[in-house]
This record gives sequence, C-alpha cells and structure tokens, in this order.
Amino acid sequence: MKILVAVKRVVDYNVKVYPKADGSGVEIANVKMSMNPFDEIAVEEAVRQKELGKATEIVVASIGVSQCQEVLRAALAMGADRAILVETDAAPEPLVVAKLLKALVEREQPNLVILGKQAIDDDCNQTGQMLAALLGWGQGAFASKLTLGEQEIEVIREIDGGLETVALKLPAVITADLRLNEPRYVKLPNIMKAKKKPLATLNPGDLGVVLATQLTTLKVAEPPKREAGIKVADAAELVAKLRNDVKVI
Ligand code: AMP
Repeated sequence: MKILVAVKRVVDYNVKVYPKADGSGVEIANVKMSMNPFDEIAVEEAVRQKELGKATEIVVASIGVSQCQEVLRAALAMGADRAILVETDAAPEPLVVAKLLKALVEREQPNLVILGKQAIDDDCNQTGQMLAALLGWGQGAFASKLTLGEQEIEVIREIDGGLETVALKLPAVITADLRLNEPRYVKLPNIMKAKKKPLATLNPGDLGVVLATQLTTLKVAEPPKREAGIKVADAAELVAKLRNDVKVI
C-alpha cells in the first residue's frame, strides 16, 4: 500500500499578509513560509497508516520553487519515505497542479492520494476534487476519520450540519480536514535523518504537462477597515439606536 501526499509551501499561518503595492498579489518577500497546515495533517495521517501497518511507503510531492524542498524535508522528518519536487517558478493554479499530480500518480501508482482540503494561500479547495475527476477515482473530501482496508477505504466526512460516512474503492483521493488528527511534534534526530532521505527533482515538462493558465488575478486588496464601535448606556438606548439609526428593528 503506497500513499502519495501532496504538500504545498505557503505563507506561514501566523503571518499577517499584505497586498503588494500594485495589487497584483500578496507580498511574500522576506515572509516566513511553511507547509500548508492541512497538508501537515495529510502527512500525519499517512504516517499513522504506516505505523498501523496498513501502508508500506509514503511519497510526498510538492510543486513550486526550489525552496519547496524545505517543506518536503519537513514531511520526510514527520515520517515520509521519499519526496518529489516538481520545480517551477510559476505559481500553478489548481487545475495545473491536479494535472501534474495525475502524471505523478501514473508514474508512482499509489493506492491512495491524500491532499489538504485547502491551501491557506489561495483558499481554492479545488485540487483534490479535480485530481479525483481527472483520474476517474472516488473522492473523500473533508475527511475527519479514515479506516483503510486492502481494497476499500471508509471515510467520515465533515459536511454541513453533521458527518457523512462513505466507502470508496481503492485507489482513491482523500482531502484532509482539520479534525482528522493533530500533527506530531518533529524531534531533532528525525530532522537529521530526513536530510538523508531521497528527494528527486522533476520539471513539469518531464511529466508532459504544459503550464497553461486559465485564471488571471485581477486585483488583491485588503478588506475595508472596520469602523470603531460605540458604547451605549443601557438597553433602552441600544434599542433606540437599532430602531432609529441602524434601522434593523
Ligand atoms: P487548493 O485547491 O489550492 O486549495 O489546494 C488543496 C490541496 O492541494 C493542498 O492542501 C495541497 O495538498 C494540494 N496542492 C495545491 N497546490 C499544491 C502545490 N503547488 N504543490 C503540492 N500540493 C499542492
């Protein structure tokens, strides 16, 4: 049982981001970058499946600039066996990422692919679903629990107002939601060991994928500033303001 996990390098979730002066995107120069938090959960889940004896190999893949090696090394330190970087300076949109991952799936023949449910930089929430569609495989998006069998996987999914349990034939695509697990704290010896694990680099051309774009970002802007609130003396004044000024009652 081989598991392929997709990990994206994104602006660290603790960083407050600002639009670039020309509104063409978000400023990422000199900003701390990390593994997308949902992808950390995806890697953790793959490692747990291996620890349970259900998976035998975990391959992690990232698409992007050469510094994506850092997030791949972090995934190797968590317990993945080897890594693949598809190197490109372009910031590929979800459909392109899905096409590249499909080509990697054809090379690697995993039984399961796990992605994060969403990248916290573009918030697209598309790549896993697109990959499943391109492969013609079943998909279990927003997974909060996985039970991996030999031919099948049971997935508890977080849906509006509750949980849905689905059974998918393998191979399948899963996307990890927040409550699937809590990623482990990586210890120093494992960080050292990860430096020696294999990391291969490919170009999109090696995978036969053209990086054609269908999306153009027109403008990135900050949300309007919230206006300061006011204090009211009592409930009667509050009701009067809601009725006369805000006119909501
Ligand atoms: P998105 O559809 O952009 O919100 O991303 C959903 C998931 O797809 C992420 O959590 C990653 O697992 C995967 N993904 C997206 N972009 C990349 C990338 N450039 N490299 C590796 N994985 C990616």
